[in-house]
Amino acid sequence: MTPIVETRDLTKDYHMGKVVVHALRGVSVKVMPGEFVAIMGPSGSGKSTFMNLVGCLDRPTSGEVILDGREVSRLNDNELARVRNQMIGFVFQTFNLLPRTTALKNVELPLLYAGVRERTRLAEEALRKVGLAARMDHKPNELSGGQQQRVAIARAIVNDPVLVLADEPTGNLDSRSSEEILALFQDLNREGRTILLVTHEEDVARHCKRIIRFRDGKIVLDEPISDPLDAREVLAAMPEPEPEEEMVSGAN
Ligand code: ADP
Repeated sequence: MTPIVETRDLTKDYHMGKVVVHALRGVSVKVMPGEFVAIMGPSGSGKSTFMNLVGCLDRPTSGEVILDGREVSRLNDNELARVRNQMIGFVFQTFNLLPRTTALKNVELPLLYAGVRERTRLAEEALRKVGLAARMDHKPNELSGGQQQRVAIARAIVNDPVLVLADEPTGNLDSRSSEEILALFQDLNREGRTILLVTHEEDVARHCKRIIRFRDGKIVLDEPISDPLDAREVLAAMPEPEPEEEMVSGAN
C-alpha cells in the first residue's frame, strides 16, 4: 500500500539574521491510508513546521515529502498550490472562514479554485454531512463556534482530499462543541479519510488512533493508541446543553 504521507529525513532551517534555527532535524515517518494521527509536543518542537511541509505550504531545507506517492518537496509555488487544492483539506483553530460570505459560499470556494462546475450541489452535500443542512445561508457571525468549525470541515472535505490536516481544531471551542467536532473527525476517519491533527491536549489526542510526539525538531515517540475514546460515547455521557447555549460561543 502507498502511504498517504511519507517524509524522508526531513529538515527545515530558519535563518534569522546570522542565527540558524533548526526547526526540524531529520524526520522520517509514514502515514498509511485511513490513519488518524495526533501530533503532539511542546511549543517550539516543530509541529507547525512539519504540518506546513506536509501541507505544501513551505519547502524543506533537505529531505523529501511524498504525498500519495508523489514527491512534492521541490515543486514551485504554483504546483504546490495545485497539490494543496487537490490533495489536502485544512482545518484551523480559528476556522478561517470568509466573514461576509454564507456557509454555502465558503464551502464552494475550494471548488471554485479547482474549476469544478457542480459547486453548489457538492457544497450542499458537504454541509449536510457535517449536520449543517439547515444553516447553509448563514454567515459565520450567525453561527456558533462549533458550527463555524463544521463549515470549515465541510470546506476541507468538499474537494474529496486524500488528507485532512487539522491544527488545534478544538482549541477555541467549549468541551461539548469540541467533542462534537471530534465525533465528526472520527466519522470522516471511519469512512477511510486520513487525518493528521495537532493538539496539545491529551484528551483530544486520545480520540486518535496513533500519536506522534515531537521534541526539539525530532520525533521522540510514535505509538498506536490501543483504545481510542469514542466521541459519541463521551457526548452521550455529557449533560444535555441548555437550549440557548447553542449560540453562546458564536460571539466573535
Ligand atoms: P511548534 O508548532 O511545535 O510550536 P514550530 O514548528 O512553530 O513549533 O517551531 C519550531 C522552531 O522553529 C521554533 O524554535 C520556532 O521559533 C522556529 N520557527 C518556526 N517558524 C519560524 C519562522 N518562520 N522563522 C523563524 N523561526 C521559526
